[in-house]
Amino acid sequence: MHCASCASIIERTVKKIDGVSDVSVNNGTEKAKISYDERLASHDVFNKKLEPLGYVLEMEMSDMHKEHTGINQSKQEKLKEVSEMRSSVFFALPLAGIGILIMAWEIFGKYSIVPAMPETIYEFFHHLLPIFATFIFATIGKPYVVGVYRFFRYGKANMDTLIGLGTSVAFLYSFIISAFDKILAPYVNVEYTYYDVTIVVITFIALGKYLEAKSKIKTGDAIEKLLGLQAKTALVVRNAKEIEIAIDQVVLGDIVIVKPGQKIPVDGVVVSGSSFVDESMLTGEPIPVEKSLNAQIVAGTINTSGTFNFKATKIGSETLLSHIIKMVEEAQGSKAPIQALADKISSIFVPVVLVLATLTFGAWLYFGIPVFGFAQALGFALTSFVGILVIACPCALGLATPTAIIVGVGKGAQNGILIKDAATLETLHKAGVIVVDKTGTITNGKPELSKIENKSDKTNDEILSILATLESRSEHPIAHAIVTYAKEKNIVLKNIEQFENIRGKGLQGIVANQKYFAGNTKILVDFNISFDAKHIDEETRQGKTPVILTDTKNVLAIVYVADQVKDEARETVASLHKLGKKVIMLTGDNKNTGEYIGGLVGIDEVIAEVMPEDKLRIVKELQSKGNVVAMAGDGVNDAPALAQADVGIAMGTGTDVAIDSAGITLLGGDIAKLTKAVKLSKMTMLGIKQNLFWAFIYNVVGIPLAGGLFYPILGWLLSPVFAGFAMAMSSVSVVSNSLRIKAKKL
Ligand code: ADP
Ligand code: MG
Repeated sequence: MHCASCASIIERTVKKIDGVSDVSVNNGTEKAKISYDERLASHDVFNKKLEPLGYVLEMEMSDMHKEHTGINQSKQEKLKEVSEMRSSVFFALPLAGIGILIMAWEIFGKYSIVPAMPETIYEFFHHLLPIFATFIFATIGKPYVVGVYRFFRYGKANMDTLIGLGTSVAFLYSFIISAFDKILAPYVNVEYTYYDVTIVVITFIALGKYLEAKSKIKTGDAIEKLLGLQAKTALVVRNAKEIEIAIDQVVLGDIVIVKPGQKIPVDGVVVSGSSFVDESMLTGEPIPVEKSLNAQIVAGTINTSGTFNFKATKIGSETLLSHIIKMVEEAQGSKAPIQALADKISSIFVPVVLVLATLTFGAWLYFGIPVFGFAQALGFALTSFVGILVIACPCALGLATPTAIIVGVGKGAQNGILIKDAATLETLHKAGVIVVDKTGTITNGKPELSKIENKSDKTNDEILSILATLESRSEHPIAHAIVTYAKEKNIVLKNIEQFENIRGKGLQGIVANQKYFAGNTKILVDFNISFDAKHIDEETRQGKTPVILTDTKNVLAIVYVADQVKDEARETVASLHKLGKKVIMLTGDNKNTGEYIGGLVGIDEVIAEVMPEDKLRIVKELQSKGNVVAMAGDGVNDAPALAQADVGIAMGTGTDVAIDSAGITLLGGDIAKLTKAVKLSKMTMLGIKQNLFWAFIYNVVGIPLAGGLFYPILGWLLSPVFAGFAMAMSSVSVVSNSLRIKAKKL
């Protein structure tokens, strides 16, 4: 694929095939996504339609294959292609150099800046140039000739057609003049031919394409790096023996041995030994993480100096690394809404330009002949025609968005920020309000039991036993805190019947024939148990969360759990403020507790004691007031609100990353990445806008200039040679501008 018009040609062609319901072609990744009925269409059918137009559809290699080889074959193919491009471009460059030299000599000679070209040299070169031009057409110019052929054969025009028409018209005109100079001498200026234009334009464009292809490969580096993280072998225990096996031979439950410095091959849980593991490649965190019994191990990370064994729990395409790779690939191939305009423009660009060039040609003859005479007017007409065709290509326009998206998404992945699609990346920086969940987002989500206030005649152990028994059936972080504490105290749990979770409030169940409730004050209201909230005021004001244990009549005890605020939370909120964002914290927790935590980290507004469905409603309300809302949560009971928000951001803690449900996942549950994600969105969109601006400007200015619109007033007429140079450079500059995003600090 060469440019945006290719993408739209392919889309339109495939869409017409029977059985195809949807097709989307991305010109940045050169990938097509086709939904079709297998009974009606097939890979062969697509290619039968596409091959005459100069495209071949290749099936994407399966994930499995990629995992086996650890390499991306298409990258190797691209590298080969680029090196072929390079050799032919370097072969053509000296010819173009000679062409430019002659042109310069002629021009400067005319103004007596340099001595005029001696007759013999002039003659020599003017015999040599047609040979050079023919050679160029036969080598690097071939795609353009083919483009012209396709235009006349199938009526489809792409960028190659424009360049091809321009250069071959210049060439044919020159050839006719050379062949019939005696006959034509009275009518046209036979001294002047356009072979040099043909040579130089094609060489420049080929050079530009080579540079573009070379840097386009660099935009996909992130995937390459991720694929490179995959280990090729694993050391496992089989029949009490250590053996090294290929990565795809590992089965679930295998005990994998990890030695110092080794790459972790699959996901799993530590069963013995301990070590520090460098997870920076996935989370972006530079400090190695301690891993001991029961710790989660993730494929692609690197062990430091210890040794440990772990049990394989996720293999092959199930590992976090495989998920990440797949997600990054899909995101890079997705289209940003901002691209729609560029797509529309480039799809009609080619025919419009063809008409424009032809009209300009006619206009020069019509208005030019009375003023300049036929010979000179024809010269102007030709120059304009070729110039417009060459400069008008919407190439840069087609590259503007996808290259920036590829780089942006890749940069995110390297910083532990997983982005689901281009639209998410485009929307995030527009969010004026960022809603955050308290538990697990602002706080660590690992509360600890800090105090037991016993209000009954039971012993503390008895109270703990009942409460921990109830909580042992809950997944809530609060439950975890209580159960862990009880275990540490060697408290024996009891049997429980009719357990029930009361969403956003707590839980109930029958323990030793007695019904109990545990939870917040809402549960007391529900069950008509009188309680003076003053009792919990003091502790909640210090950020502690009360869990009230009652039987059907009385409050038995109040247990407090406290959660630590994340180290970077305060800093993150401050930096979000600097970016002009309002930060609202939602929590199901007590009002005092929420306000205390909110105050600690500098939150603008705390909305406490909300039910899970309230979170959804609050997001909706914010949106209806015209806000673009981003919501960050732990993804468990926040899922509906995350889905409602314009951008849902999940805190990916450990290995159970809900990466499919959220638009953005911050690996390692690191809140500081929230700011980074916003900045990344901002810089990617800025890059896209710069790209689009330059791509547009260049066509807006270039076309009238090449058409000679300014000639009557200012005497300006863009030489097709400059048009070729500008055209080549515009794509190169767009791709390099996108690559700059890579180097910027987040
Ligand atoms: P959040 O995620 O903000 O904590 P939830 O809806 O999960 O919101 O919980 C809201 C409140 O319900 C908690 O703050 C707590 O007071 C109470 N609660 C929920 N689950 C439990 C539980 N297992 N034990 C005790 N209290 C609970
Ligand atoms: Mg929660």
